[in-house]
Amino acid sequence: MSMEILLGDEAVGLGAVHAGLSGAYSYPGTPASEIMEYLIRIGRGASFKAAWSVNEKTAFEEALGCSYAGKRAFVSFKHVGLNVAADPFMSAALTGANGGFIVCSGDDPSMHSSQNEQDSRFYAQFALIPCFEPADHQEAYDMAREAFELSERVKLPVMIRLTTRLAHSRAGVETRPPRPENEIRTGARQCWTLLPGNARVQFKRVLDLQPELVRYASESPFTRLELQPDDRRLGIIASGLGYNYVRENLEGSGLRPSILKISVYPIPEDLVRRLVEHCDTILVAEEGYPLIERQIRGLFGIPGKILIGKMSGHLPLQGELTPETVRAALGLAPLARRTAGDLPLANRPPQLCVGCPHADTFKALKKALEGQPGATIFSDIGCYTLGYFPPHNAVDSCVCMGASVGMAHGASRAGVHPAVGVIGDSTFGHSGITALLSAATADANMVLVILDNCTVAMTGTQPSFSTGRRLLEIVRGVGVPAERLRVITPLPKFHEENVRVLREEIAHPGLSVVVAVRECLEEAKKKNKLGGAQ
Ligand code: SF4
Repeated sequence: MSMEILLGDEAVGLGAVHAGLSGAYSYPGTPASEIMEYLIRIGRGASFKAAWSVNEKTAFEEALGCSYAGKRAFVSFKHVGLNVAADPFMSAALTGANGGFIVCSGDDPSMHSSQNEQDSRFYAQFALIPCFEPADHQEAYDMAREAFELSERVKLPVMIRLTTRLAHSRAGVETRPPRPENEIRTGARQCWTLLPGNARVQFKRVLDLQPELVRYASESPFTRLELQPDDRRLGIIASGLGYNYVRENLEGSGLRPSILKISVYPIPEDLVRRLVEHCDTILVAEEGYPLIERQIRGLFGIPGKILIGKMSGHLPLQGELTPETVRAALGLAPLARRTAGDLPLANRPPQLCVGCPHADTFKALKKALEGQPGATIFSDIGCYTLGYFPPHNAVDSCVCMGASVGMAHGASRAGVHPAVGVIGDSTFGHSGITALLSAATADANMVLVILDNCTVAMTGTQPSFSTGRRLLEIVRGVGVPAERLRVITPLPKFHEENVRVLREEIAHPGLSVVVAVRECLEEAKKKNKLGGAQ
């Protein structure tokens, strides 16, 4: 046993390695990126493979193949990445796993760096697979190990759901000796081939497993029910970080509620029933959407009991759970503390780095579009989304990864002109390629500006799969003619020339792609630190 100080993300990663991990795959996204950063770092020279993938769907499929080979496989991404991987995710619940298979989703309540707050526990429930939700760093490590054991026992993928605050904070974790990797072993091909006849059998298997999964959640050492025999007034059901916030607030408060800690899903129904029967008022403290609360409440609530939580308004429906919001829900007076608002801090809105190549591209693009009131710029997700803010005011929409290309295409068909899509090199590889294939086939009357800054900048400069010469070859490969593929260098000294190129392509009545190539400043700094260009 040894002690390590780890991020929540790292604790999950190390737990997976110590459980005999063979293959880990991911696409960067906050708050999950640090899992793969860590696995790549500690994986140098190790026998397991840890690698970035072109997108979350591909990462999931690579991990699934590893699991089918009998090896222990791990895939991680942020919550919206699970949407990208949802197709194989839902089907993998039916095919099941061979070697243990963990799907780790980093949820981002409060949208610190995300376009929505969705709660991955619903996906686990949707797919009918087990889900672990650690309350602290030690559990993040222990659960990764246990999730592999469960996955191999029930032959299902198992989810670990993290949230930002745990993923990005550090604490001491006691580690245990590593387990060796699995040998390659074959599996049942009829399970993995989801022809309707096989899929029906597999779906029944998953349905039949549900009572066992509920029993497992109920008996898991991560789940805990503490009933106060002599006090029936308050019962608390808490999960994930909500459990910690409850414990923190109870200290010295004089309150002695009964508590059910839920850390494994499906929800342990028998324990919930025991708590509800025992207590008059039940508070549900969970981070994310009211998944537990909604299941307990049903349509009409529980006769004779008072149920409070997010749906009753005692806890906010939006944003992260905090010690303060939980304190208020417990009816305790707020603690005196200084908030950031008390400190003389300047308000600093998010912005592009000074000298960022995207700023020069936006400047040229805005100039090229001057005098065209119908012009619309559909952005994608990356640093360049910050072009929405002044002084650029260059972005009219941003929805999800890869959407800018399809949105510009759709708008052009609806009569918008000029219709411009803006996308980064990595995001283009992630999910812009297929939309460009569609636009190229239709010769859509639009301009796509691909901002090639040679990296995945926003999440910490991970490698891009579609940059430089490869990017140009891909664009040509999906059917964009050479004369409609232009390359510019977004530097102030080329401003006039860049405006001219963009104007020419905007005037062309069909599809054009302009690739703006200049390295991200952070990527350049990183290379300099490492001692020169790659
Ligand atoms: S990290 Fe790179 S791409 Fe992002 S704003 Fe800074 S310079 Fe621009």
